[in-house]
Amino acid sequence: MLKLLFFGVLAYFAFRFVQKARLSGRREHGHPKSGSVDEMVQDPNCLTYISKVNAIKKNVGGETHFFCSQACAEKFQNKKM
Ligand SMILES: [Zn+2]
Repeated sequence: MLKLLFFGVLAYFAFRFVQKARLSGRREHGHPKSGSVDEMVQDPNCLTYISKVNAIKKNVGGETHFFCSQACAEKFQNKKM
């Protein structure tokens, strides 16, 4: 009788564990990975925010800057010089 109860409890916890794992797994799947895809950067020339993936990356004076356009990159470079 006691043995049966023990196995019942064990089965219950095993069931709970599986359910929990399945739930957290689904929750992880629903969340997009928090990466640098939507990261915003500021154009130091016109001070506009653009997404990093669309920005023009340029090294000015040893520092990496992000620009909204080629024109801004050139203007900033000229300002620095
Ligand atoms: Zn700009």
